[in-house]
Amino acid sequence: MMRRIYFDHNATTPVDPAVREAMLPYLSEVFGNASSIHSFGQQARAAVERARQSVAALLGARPAEIVFTSGGTEADNLAIFGIVHAAGGARKHVITTQIEHHAVLNACQALQEQGVAVTFLPVSSDGLVDPDDVRRALRPETVLITVMHANNELGTVQPIAEIARIAAEAGIPFHTDAVQSAGKLPVDVESLGVDLLSLSAHKLYGPKGVGALYIRRGVHLRPLLYGGHHERDRRPGTENVPGIVGLGQAAALARQRLSEEAVRLAALRDRLERGLLERIPHLRVNGARAPRTPNTTNITFSFIEGEALVIALDLKGVACSTGAACSSGAVEPSHVLTAIGLPPEEARASLRFSLGHANTEADVDYALNVIPDVVEHLRQLSPQYKRQPVAR
Ligand SMILES: *Cc1c(COP(=O)(O)O)cnc(C)c1O
Repeated sequence: MMRRIYFDHNATTPVDPAVREAMLPYLSEVFGNASSIHSFGQQARAAVERARQSVAALLGARPAEIVFTSGGTEADNLAIFGIVHAAGGARKHVITTQIEHHAVLNACQALQEQGVAVTFLPVSSDGLVDPDDVRRALRPETVLITVMHANNELGTVQPIAEIARIAAEAGIPFHTDAVQSAGKLPVDVESLGVDLLSLSAHKLYGPKGVGALYIRRGVHLRPLLYGGHHERDRRPGTENVPGIVGLGQAAALARQRLSEEAVRLAALRDRLERGLLERIPHLRVNGARAPRTPNTTNITFSFIEGEALVIALDLKGVACSTGAACSSGAVEPSHVLTAIGLPPEEARASLRFSLGHANTEADVDYALNVIPDVVEHLRQLSPQYKRQPVAR
């Protein structure tokens, strides 16, 4: 059988066996509704509260500050609409960036349709937000600042603590989407100084369809949904007990192995990056000079259509993705790569490799063996490449 290597951990991760084991009882005998008074319910409630403690511990938060959601997308939406809709005043303004995940970007666009002014801050060619730009964007009517911690396409890590200080001085709630950093980098709500923080279980070896929003004590928001009094009136609906237990176990695992994994993955990522740069001409590593998550590299393979390269590599057993979020098959170049200044054809020629727990040096070496030939083959089909004057 062909070797299959998964280098797309920023899209999703496999459920860790320990996570699956922890979840199983809650899919069978421990099926109670966590709101029920009897022992079935009490067992489920105890499991949910243990998971809450585990997520809180990963973030350096108090358990009461953790609200479980259906994932990263809902956590982002709850933070953004929750804060903006709770804020008074006829005129409202929100500050965010051009490189946010669509969960934040499209929520902010929906706010604009509701009459809220939104500033989408630019980023440097390395994908970093300048905290001074945040300061300059402040208005008397600013009600929320939301800037992601680590970018899903580039892995670049924003100066969150600095931006948080600016937000705190101005008395404005500050949210960060930490879906790509939780479990990869130390994420501590006190040292970051954030008021709200989103994470998602399936990006850290937990199940899909569950996540959490950290809401600092004293920060008030309006719920997105109306129903029962679950999650301290912030997120109604019968708790997804197996999913929440899975998230709790995934958070515990992440906390245990984070520092060791960060070093190991950075070494693998660097080996992959260096190896490709040595073997293939006309490459550019995007965001390379910025602090990055240890598992991510985004590379422009000039003269190639990224989609074609993803498909060709998949046929060789290497799963990665384009920077472009084009699930619909549209050829819109990635908004992130566009924001760092890549022209459309370079953005479309870019691939993201995101490594994870099961990857080994042998996986990287296999990829280094197959990628150069595939790239050269596809480049031979490109008229622009043939016209290159440089000797190869
Ligand atoms: C995956 C992701 C999300 C969405 O999380 P889901 O749990 O898939 O809804 C949000 N933000 C970032 C940065 C992500 O990578």
